[in-house]
Amino acid sequence: MNVLLLGSGGREHALAWKIAASPLLTKLYAAPGNPGIGGEAELVKLDIADHASVTAFCREKKIDLVVVGPEGPLVAGIADDLRAENIRVFGPSKAAARLEGSKGFTKDLCARYDIPTAAYGRFGDLASAKAYVEKTGAPIVIKADGLAAGKGVTVAMTLDEARAAIDACFEGSFGAAGAEVVIEEFMTGEEASFFCLCDGTTALPFGTAQDHKRVGDGDTGPNTGGMGAYSPAPVMTPDMAERTMREIIEPTMRGMAASGAPFAGILFAGLMITDKGPKLIEYNTRFGDPECQVLMMRLKDDLLVLLNAAVDGQLAHTSIRWRDEAALTVVMAARGYPGTPEKGSVIRGVEGAAGEGVQIFHAGTAINGGALVANGGRVLNVTATGATVGEAQARAYAALDRIDWPDGFCRRDIGWQAVARERAR
Ligand code: AMP
Repeated sequence: MNVLLLGSGGREHALAWKIAASPLLTKLYAAPGNPGIGGEAELVKLDIADHASVTAFCREKKIDLVVVGPEGPLVAGIADDLRAENIRVFGPSKAAARLEGSKGFTKDLCARYDIPTAAYGRFGDLASAKAYVEKTGAPIVIKADGLAAGKGVTVAMTLDEARAAIDACFEGSFGAAGAEVVIEEFMTGEEASFFCLCDGTTALPFGTAQDHKRVGDGDTGPNTGGMGAYSPAPVMTPDMAERTMREIIEPTMRGMAASGAPFAGILFAGLMITDKGPKLIEYNTRFGDPECQVLMMRLKDDLLVLLNAAVDGQLAHTSIRWRDEAALTVVMAARGYPGTPEKGSVIRGVEGAAGEGVQIFHAGTAINGGALVANGGRVLNVTATGATVGEAQARAYAALDRIDWPDGFCRRDIGWQAVARERAR
């Protein structure tokens, strides 16, 4: 098979690494990719927002499958445009990607199908949004409806914060994404990420993970795209996983199919495990980054076989095997992140740091004058497996300490809750 992978982050490097290991693969292309992905695939300079040029490339190179990493192209309808040209693609249609592209759409689906989630209101104007929070009080959660690169959510602990967040949305801080606002009840519990591989009808559980969103040790400081993750999520017991499938995922699949937008691709449920059971925080319609990195380390089966089964509607006849191991990834970021990261600093020792059960996935890297340099906020994902989360953590940090990058930083406590649980056993 000739495969084209779209994207350029650590998530896509992990996907490229797994796809490259498949005996089904003839040739892997990636656009735009990064230097790490370049070790697994031929990098092509394609503007992935220009669907016509992606389609033309697929024709020229006889691409048998396109795998879409990030949400932007999915919400923009790249899967529809490729399918219209009879090009096979793994990823949801524009209509199905509304599960990620519009928080209000997802909340309405939950209301219609009795899917457990936070109580909410949807507002298109400032006055009615403010009137709602005056009535509900704080804590309360304010969300821009559309895609806002993970920045459109404010967990407001006071009414003043809630009012300021509503003002920010309607003043255009999140562009068109903030033209409508979703206001939600504040839920408490432990968060977990639950992934499913979907073919429009069938959803198969595809691993669990927990991530660390805050930039600083002890889960402090501003939010980021994710500073590290581990899998499996200890809070997702078999009972919680079964309830999540029955109460959240399966009604979603039925609802999407009934509305004429069956969901095929990766359905990623962000969950709050409350004392009443799992509740949906939000859906994403692709793998998480860095959660994908730990899932790929644990996946025993051939990823390309599974993606083909999803594209061909064959998941009802498919099973998925996982290594009986934990995996953990630590993000190395450039100084300044999540503000303005410093670019251009030289990174040494990456090749030597990988080894048995350890992979270094590239995110924001570039080659400059033959040297590997930082070229973004999140730069490397040092990822390891182990018999326990604690063992994976120790291996990941040992590998990370072999990388020579004085201008980078990381958290030193990724996986702390899981490791504490293991020690308490
Ligand atoms: P989202 O982008 O919707 O996942 O929200 C980002 C983060 O905000 C989540 O990971 C939660 O930590 C928090 N959050 C979102 N919605 C709620 C809610 N209704 N109750 C409590 N925390 C929330």
